[in-house]
Amino acid sequence: MRCYQLVEFGAPLSEATGFRPVPTGSEVIVHVLASGVCHSDLHISEGHHDLGGGRKASVAGRIHLPLTLGHEIAGVVVALGPEAGPERGPRANGVAVGDAVLVCSWIGCGECEACLEGDEHLCRAPRFLGVNRDGGYADFVTVPHPRALVPLHGLDPRKAAPLVCSGLTTYSALRKLDANSRLQRKPVVIIGAGGLGLMSIEVLKLLGGAGAVVVEIDPRKRDAAMAQGAIAAIDPRAPGAAKAIRAAVGSEVSGVLDLVGSGETAKLGFDLLGPGGKLVIVGLFGGETTLSVPLFPMKSAKIEGSYIGSPAELRALIDLVRAKGMPDIPIDIRELSEVNQALADLQAGTVIGRVILVP
Ligand SMILES: [Zn+2]
Ligand SMILES: [Zn+2]
Repeated sequence: MRCYQLVEFGAPLSEATGFRPVPTGSEVIVHVLASGVCHSDLHISEGHHDLGGGRKASVAGRIHLPLTLGHEIAGVVVALGPEAGPERGPRANGVAVGDAVLVCSWIGCGECEACLEGDEHLCRAPRFLGVNRDGGYADFVTVPHPRALVPLHGLDPRKAAPLVCSGLTTYSALRKLDANSRLQRKPVVIIGAGGLGLMSIEVLKLLGGAGAVVVEIDPRKRDAAMAQGAIAAIDPRAPGAAKAIRAAVGSEVSGVLDLVGSGETAKLGFDLLGPGGKLVIVGLFGGETTLSVPLFPMKSAKIEGSYIGSPAELRALIDLVRAKGMPDIPIDIRELSEVNQALADLQAGTVIGRVILVP
């Protein structure tokens, strides 16, 4: 098999070759058909997150190198371990060799409180593929347990792969803004029109949303947001931006999704909120900000963080996609060996939509 590994933090990925893996226990081997390139791969390869004020959260202690990155994986089951058979094991998933599947990379320990509540994505001893275990920048990936496999039911693997991270992340975050059918009644403000931003416009459509007002500094990405169907795309650095955003929403702002997650965007998001409004922060760009404390009670405002989403939410999203159609985001299909160029393009901010690597 062939894979692209992070061998040293801050360095490009290196190609490695080896024997095709053989499954043991409950493991399942999936032949990768498509692997989405996600912004968080950049944070992992850098080895840290910027917490603001000069503080950095190292991921190096939790990540053992060499590591094959890639956590948006679609493929075909090629081998099942002795305890992963369709009818065996307490949580076997009915998958068989030859099935096309989406791999839910967010696999927890299966035993902690978060895992037992179904929130494997919040596990403190995660076995996330492409993060803690070898992932999908390879032609084969070893999945620890069949419960992580979601049948594709004929969906296009190249379009479905991004659902595992960018689709699930935006779905879970938008659901957090969805109290009292607010999404259906009023446009949401979405900060950032990168891969997550375009996906969130599409997921909002699946949820029957009233539309998105996009805030983005890059004119090319504003154009992409408009092409995706945004109501408006506004440059936050232009004079009168806040007024223009409120005008595009048509009333007080009730919901803001911050897909950038910098000090600047979190402050902008909070300041935009009207009475009873909610800001959901998803992005991990990094930084810190200062907020006016009395404005929390005065506006009855809420801020919530959202990290990926649960396996159950991924299944709900797939059901929604099967019922209403695949999110139609621009995809840029490249050969697996072009992974380092894809990551460099993402770092430079020149990618529109999602790069999909195919082995
Ligand atoms: Zn991701
Ligand atoms: Zn756990």
